[in-house]
Amino acid sequence: MKNTNPILTDSFGRDHTYLRISLIERCNLRCSYCMPEEGVLLSPKSHLMTYEEIHTIAKIFVTNGVTKIRLTGGEPLIRKDIPIILEKLSSLPVELSITTNAVIIDKFIDALKNNGVKGINVSLDSLDREKFKQITRRDEFEKVYNNIHLLVDEGFKVKVNAVLIKGFNDNEIIDFIRFTKDLPISFRFIEFMPFDGNKWNMEKMVSYNDVMRYVKATFSEEQIVRLQDAPNDTSKNYKIKGYRGSFAIISSVTNPFCDTCNRLRLTADGQLKNCLFSSSESDLLTALRAGKSIEPIIKKAVQAKLKVRGGMDTVEKLQEPKLHTQNRSMITIGG
Ligand code: SAM
Repeated sequence: MKNTNPILTDSFGRDHTYLRISLIERCNLRCSYCMPEEGVLLSPKSHLMTYEEIHTIAKIFVTNGVTKIRLTGGEPLIRKDIPIILEKLSSLPVELSITTNAVIIDKFIDALKNNGVKGINVSLDSLDREKFKQITRRDEFEKVYNNIHLLVDEGFKVKVNAVLIKGFNDNEIIDFIRFTKDLPISFRFIEFMPFDGNKWNMEKMVSYNDVMRYVKATFSEEQIVRLQDAPNDTSKNYKIKGYRGSFAIISSVTNPFCDTCNRLRLTADGQLKNCLFSSSESDLLTALRAGKSIEPIIKKAVQAKLKVRGGMDTVEKLQEPKLHTQNRSMITIGG
């Protein structure tokens, strides 16, 4: 939908109708590509947005044209007041969705349904229990696996995200796709992205082309169906003929989708980020607590948004380690 309010339109004419709100910096898993081994310095609780502040800020964005809000983290479901947050946000005229590792989502089925949440993105990086344990540093594979089935049975629209890492889970690409044979889910392969402390390098990344090489080596051209991508979609979508589900590739590194980007991010400590890759942040929470209008700050942040990946417009620039350490770890941004 076209946003007619200039506050959320950037200097390249991109309308920002999608806000991702991180609710918490903590997580019940320890995925190595997401957080540094030594952990992250957590903000004091008083620096994090309360549920009232989340609601107030979200409402301002919605008034200015945001039509979709995704809750993320850290792990959004471990925040104690998540039922109240869902209830508060469900009173706004937005599509509400959530990204979760699904370890404890079985406890929130009613809360999600009662508050109109339909789309749920679940992270799952391996179908092998031992490998799951290795990447997440926690033994929770079964819960996640069972909860994915539960979410499908309960009628949610489920997308499952796997970050592909060369030599770790690229040999599971075809198993992941076969997982969609009887399950009506979208399985999405995410190119491994660089953030502070996640030991990224280009050699570890499995690209869009790599995935398609695996797919073409297993399935015939006739079996591989290219699907229509949704507007502002970050992924290229496919399905295997006859399968109930589909699969997709999110190529943020090799082929970013910045031209149609409609996303803004609010961190759990109330900082607005105009791009996942941008290290600059705008402090909405301090202004809100001081009783100031946050709209001018939002407008300035949106205007400052760069054309491609927070200025990392080439793969060479993306490989500059200094740029990763200037940004936060993914766990404190909210993916
Ligand atoms: N705890 C929730 C979860 O596990 O989905 C939400 C937060 S997590 C940071 C959100 C998403 O970011 C996950 O799908 C995760 O795979 C993705 N992610 C984290 N680090 C990443 C990286 N370095 N490259 C690509 N995706 C990453």
